[in-house]
Amino acid sequence: MPLSDTLGHDREIGILRKAISNKRIAHSFLFVGPHGIGKRFTAVSLAKALNCSALSDDFCGECQNCRDIDNSSYGDVFIIEPREPESKGGEVDHETGIIKIDAVRDVQQRLSYRAVRGGKKICIVDGAEKMNKEAQNAFLKTLEEPPPDSVIILIVSDGTVLLPTIISRCQRINFRPLPRNIMVGIVRKKIELTHKERLAVNDETAALLSSLSGGSVGKALGWDIESMLEQRKKIVEMLPRLSLTDMEGLFKAAEEISKGDRPVESLEFLKMWYRDMAVVKQGGEDMIINSDILPVLKQHAGGKTFDRLANGFKLIHQAQMDIMPPQYANKQLTVENLLMQLAYNR
Ligand SMILES: [Zn+2]
Repeated sequence: MPLSDTLGHDREIGILRKAISNKRIAHSFLFVGPHGIGKRFTAVSLAKALNCSALSDDFCGECQNCRDIDNSSYGDVFIIEPREPESKGGEVDHETGIIKIDAVRDVQQRLSYRAVRGGKKICIVDGAEKMNKEAQNAFLKTLEEPPPDSVIILIVSDGTVLLPTIISRCQRINFRPLPRNIMVGIVRKKIELTHKERLAVNDETAALLSSLSGGSVGKALGWDIESMLEQRKKIVEMLPRLSLTDMEGLFKAAEEISKGDRPVESLEFLKMWYRDMAVVKQGGEDMIINSDILPVLKQHAGGKTFDRLANGFKLIHQAQMDIMPPQYANKQLTVENLLMQLAYNR
């Protein structure tokens, strides 16, 4: 499948194809955009296009080089990504992991060797914002003096957390979320493939998943739909019960969210609910995400002012940021504090 077949990123792919055919490939790229919309897929495609032995300005997907890159067995194409601290098992984890200086040193060493098969050495850093300061400073040296025949691709969902000196050394390509119709199509097809007959996906569910994921196929496909809808239901049912006169209930709700499997995701549902209530206040019913339960949403939004809802949205977002790295604030306390503020602000 050549570059031109990539779904939904015509503009981004166009920039890369032009650079390849003009043989003016930057030493380092910064791919910026929401998680799971195809940045890594595009980075690997670029690695294939630069090493394909059959085509000079695209990739064939069938030659030995293309196949080895797909199987992660091509020595000159390597991907580094955030890992959990060793104490937690060292697993790859894009949410809570970090990229440490050791990983960067390893890359620097590998980039210093000559390309084994005479092509380009490609280093993809997926989740580059998870490099700690030390790692970023070390990486900067490589960007300042790029080894010959190497291309570095930094992938981030938030470009603002990297050192400005790193950003300024890279050619930036902004990836937009996938258009809704393309998302719905992909999500629907993949869900049907994985769930078979067990779950008939109607258009509403596919559209809801697409919206909640913010145009991120990776996110939508990582979800178990039934448990996701259940998770949302809990959050929505909890909200009207929040009250400063029932602190016990409030602490219990905070515990359920913070001790659950995916606290950041639970807060995302809460945030999207506030977003939708605010949108309803502004009369934008056709733009809401939780469109399948519009009557409940309208009921919740009644009696609240737009300013309070917008403020609630901000508070939830802040709480999400606080419990994620590098802050790692205490989850239980952060969520308790958040729910108290939401109850006070209703
Ligand atoms: Zn090929």
